[in-house]
Amino acid sequence: MARPVPAIVILGNGSLATARKIQQVYPGALIHGLAERVEGADRVYHEFGATLRELYQQDTPIIALCAAGIVIRTLAPLLLEKGAEPPVLAVAEDGSAVVPLLGGLGGVNVMAREIAASLEVAAAITTSGELRFGTCLLNPPSGYALGDLELGKRFVSDLLAGQSVRIEGAAPWLAQAQLPEDPQAQLSIHVGSAERTPSANELLIYPRSVLVAVNAEVADLPNAIRAALHQANIAAQSLACLLASDLLMASPALREAALELGVPLRFASVSGGVSELARTVPNATVLSADTGIAIAVTSQPLELAQIGRARGRLAVIGLGPGAAELMVPAVKAELARANDVLGYETYVRMAGPFRDDQVLHCTDNREEMQRARHAFELAAQGRSVVVVSSGDPGVFAMAAAVLEALHESSDPSWHSVDLEILPGVSASLATAAQAGAPLGHDFCVMSLSDNLKPWSIIEKRLDLASQADLALAFYNPISRSRPWQLGRALEIVAQHRNGETPVVLGRDVGRPGQTLRVITLGQLTADQVDMRTMVLIGSSTTCTFPRAEGGEWVYTPRWYGTKPPS
Ligand code: SAH
Repeated sequence: MARPVPAIVILGNGSLATARKIQQVYPGALIHGLAERVEGADRVYHEFGATLRELYQQDTPIIALCAAGIVIRTLAPLLLEKGAEPPVLAVAEDGSAVVPLLGGLGGVNVMAREIAASLEVAAAITTSGELRFGTCLLNPPSGYALGDLELGKRFVSDLLAGQSVRIEGAAPWLAQAQLPEDPQAQLSIHVGSAERTPSANELLIYPRSVLVAVNAEVADLPNAIRAALHQANIAAQSLACLLASDLLMASPALREAALELGVPLRFASVSGGVSELARTVPNATVLSADTGIAIAVTSQPLELAQIGRARGRLAVIGLGPGAAELMVPAVKAELARANDVLGYETYVRMAGPFRDDQVLHCTDNREEMQRARHAFELAAQGRSVVVVSSGDPGVFAMAAAVLEALHESSDPSWHSVDLEILPGVSASLATAAQAGAPLGHDFCVMSLSDNLKPWSIIEKRLDLASQADLALAFYNPISRSRPWQLGRALEIVAQHRNGETPVVLGRDVGRPGQTLRVITLGQLTADQVDMRTMVLIGSSTTCTFPRAEGGEWVYTPRWYGTKPPS
């Protein structure tokens, strides 16, 4: 597995030069700079503590250019929780010191050495085993799994106390280590995929060299797999992945089994059963255990990229109105894992910055169906694809177009894609929140665009919604090609609502240069509105009152008719 890309976090412009040097060691790593203090960072954040904790909880390696104490105090509340422990390092602003703080088993010392080398200083390594042996024995490279951490810690302290050790099996990464090796030693490092009883004298390391080919019909798949491995005398820790026929790509049972066993799930197109599937693994010995399960064992850790392919993923995401704080964390995480990003260029740019390995497909705003189909073509190849919308993807945006494209398609590879819609803060809600709570009671959301529906139906809905005394939220209120429609819409609304009805106009809400205006229906004219404006029109109960800081609060009470006793 590729190592996750670290985040470089800085508090001031003084650290930018050091941050850029570190960035060269980790191509794709983004520099997160404190708003108003840092110019030219890749990402802007407002709160240091919240940002650092969020990165930590997402298991992102953190390189913080500030005092070690600040980092420790910030992360302290999270340390007692079990969960992610990514590498965390403090680096002096001027690059004169590199201090690995957390994530010893996640390779923090390796990172400290890499960063220190680029800054031409020595890393402040404090881990005894690492200092003595030049490697962390409890953190074998990817492709290998440590048997037991607690036994391992005791083993390393025995070694540090002066005992010698022998190596059984192939441990190529230890060739460079400075271990007190002795063929007669009592202690041994044992590398192998066979099941083995743990003992204090042995550090067990399992190569991830075993693949299990399955079909989804097997009942209680995780336990059936465990039983089959046990019967074949193979350690469960050596399991590298599950492989299934690509006809089963959408099977929830397979997905859950892989999740429970903590291994990736791959798919291949093979005619025949599980034994044929297992035989696609290069240089493997195939053991057929049960019906529905076959085991392939190799002498080396498996290279996942050579085995079938992953199930493709397509996420339709909402960026929110624009401001980074209003983007939901699930959307941020989805953007980080994307191979391909599709969307209208303005929104794709808003979703960035992106790493060099991420492919951007920017298209015109009108080519929605074509974009949706392109997204499925990419995802069906096993890629992780994101389609971006502003606000919420389900509100006059890409989610419905993507589902329509899927509905129209009979291609099984499109239907097996892992499709998910991730919500965002829609413009009406972002605008309403800034004004107070104008949508605090029943409301009606409409697009005034007649590009995809006849104008007559818009008029009818406007008439009925106004008659029903719903507060109204207008998306796409006006454009160069639709100059008169808003004026006509306001005429219809005015037939049912008086001129004093509060109106909120939010323009570029959550984006640079945003404006918010509170006026009345009587004052509203079409020339105050453009296509970047959200128009909220109150109901008969919507009211306003002055705000202490100037301007007005707008709200629509939750009750209707007579106020209930409070
Ligand atoms: N999916 C989007 C809406 C797309 S329709 C959402 O959920 O917000 C585009 C219309 O949304 C624009 O014409 C405008 O009326 C409104 N809009 C989108 N972003 C906005 C913003 N930041 N400020 C004000 N209005 C916005």
